[in-house]
Amino acid sequence: MSKKHRKTDERQKAGTTGVTNSPDRSAAAARRKAPSSSLWAAATSEIAGTAPALVAAHLPAPVAAADGIVTVAPGRRFDLAEVDANADGSLDKDWAKAALATERARIQALQEKLYAERQRSLLVVFQAIDTGGKDGTIRAVFEGVNPQGCSVASFKVPSIEERDHDFLWRYHQRTPARGMIGVFNRSHYEDVLVVRVKDLVPEPVWQARYGLINDFERLLTESGTHILKFFLHISKDEQKERLEARIADPEKHWKFDPADLVERKSWDAYQTAFSDALTRCSTPHAPWYVVPANRKWFRNLIIARTIADTLEAMDPRFPEAQAGVAEMTVPD
Ligand code: AMP
Ligand code: MG
Repeated sequence: MSKKHRKTDERQKAGTTGVTNSPDRSAAAARRKAPSSSLWAAATSEIAGTAPALVAAHLPAPVAAADGIVTVAPGRRFDLAEVDANADGSLDKDWAKAALATERARIQALQEKLYAERQRSLLVVFQAIDTGGKDGTIRAVFEGVNPQGCSVASFKVPSIEERDHDFLWRYHQRTPARGMIGVFNRSHYEDVLVVRVKDLVPEPVWQARYGLINDFERLLTESGTHILKFFLHISKDEQKERLEARIADPEKHWKFDPADLVERKSWDAYQTAFSDALTRCSTPHAPWYVVPANRKWFRNLIIARTIADTLEAMDPRFPEAQAGVAEMTVPD
């Protein structure tokens, strides 16, 4: 039975379908293979020593995304129109909100171990059209995570200094250090999205970037950074409602950007650019996950669950204590 099917089977046995609280996570953890001790020792000594580490051996293959998320199969032509932005897995909204708290707690506990271990890192990329819900997702999913172990980078229109470097320069500086979870609110993908739609560089320049992005992500992966890429998919009607809500509510005026109305006219061009980026940059080590995102509570739950499952598969561990610590006493 494949991992995905086994998971589904476990959930069905628990009397539920779709996204659930897993019935027995400790059993699942016990089934997982521990890293080979020699590799583990090698990586540990790299931490203590000076050698730059290539710790790809410690990164698990991407986990099966939570039910409801569409994984873009590497090498297959993908069209965003295939995904129903309204999907909600037939879940109950209140139940889903409670389940989100469980997933958050898993993320918090695993993040503490990732931070203590200080060997690998996790990069979580969010892309979406304007009003797609990137900020809200980050707030909902990472609430309660120790801020010391987490960094969020939001990418805006590049500065002159950023434009005077290669397009990946500004992103590479913000990738997570060992032990950290790094969140990208927009990312290097903007350079094949807004840049393409608004014709900001000649076509041969943006065309070459898909391959460069794949190479960049391979470099990160082979250096010990596990990459998760979520595309939040909303419908055109949903965007209209969200923009209207920002206009109607004075407390949301700060979120309203008149430029979003101009960008909305390029809706179709953005959908094409998104579909191309997802097709060309979904790789075995860093696949794209497309999230039905009209229902915020469903979006939050399935993203949180996928992040928690990924951290669990990474299996971070507290470092071994120094010999004799348990017997030590603190002088008066
Ligand atoms: P927001 O995320 O709503 O605060 O807006 C940030 C703006 O920066 C959006 O309009 C993006 O399209 C724009 N932006 C982000 N990255 C780039 C880039 N590499 N080139 C041009 N515009 C960008
Ligand atoms: Mg905006």
